[in-house]
Amino acid sequence: MLKTWTVEEIREILHEVGEKFNFSCDEVPIFISTRMTRRLGCFRAKINYETSKYSPVSFTFTKDILNGAYSEEGVREIVIHEYIHYYIIIKLQEIHNHDEVFIKYCKLAGIPGSSKFSGKPVAGYKQSAYVLRCSHCGKMIGYKTRKTKIIKNIEKYRSNCCYAGITISKEEIAI
Ligand SMILES: [Zn+2]
Ligand SMILES: [Zn+2]
Repeated sequence: MLKTWTVEEIREILHEVGEKFNFSCDEVPIFISTRMTRRLGCFRAKINYETSKYSPVSFTFTKDILNGAYSEEGVREIVIHEYIHYYIIIKLQEIHNHDEVFIKYCKLAGIPGSSKFSGKPVAGYKQSAYVLRCSHCGKMIGYKTRKTKIIKNIEKYRSNCCYAGITISKEEIAI
């Protein structure tokens, strides 16, 4: 059984890590995006140009993290990663992206300090993907879950089987 998540459970992870760092993010709204596919999570802040101070705007997570696409550990990692962005920008009032300061705080929070989540969706999870097929014989060549360069420049590619053009269709497939 894939574990699915509610926004309240995501909030709970954020609350716990906030307690650990003694810096709450309970007031920051959480949005779930059906359109965010390149990134799994995002923290937004805004700057006040008069005071040069950053204040929080929102956390956004892709709906895929609620749907059971990732392991429980993976979801925690994705959520805590965004908390660390929040902590560094709002508490420290510094911009570090994914540098060594960011990695240091990730490790303090108990997650791997990499810039990108390395986990893959769990087996059997149906995900919408761009499916690539040979336009001549219809053979499935592969799929991409994100709008990659190949997808954008598909007319430049040929299938290995028939050396024909490649078609793309958006389908729900089990990965
Ligand atoms: Zn990040
Ligand atoms: Zn073919």
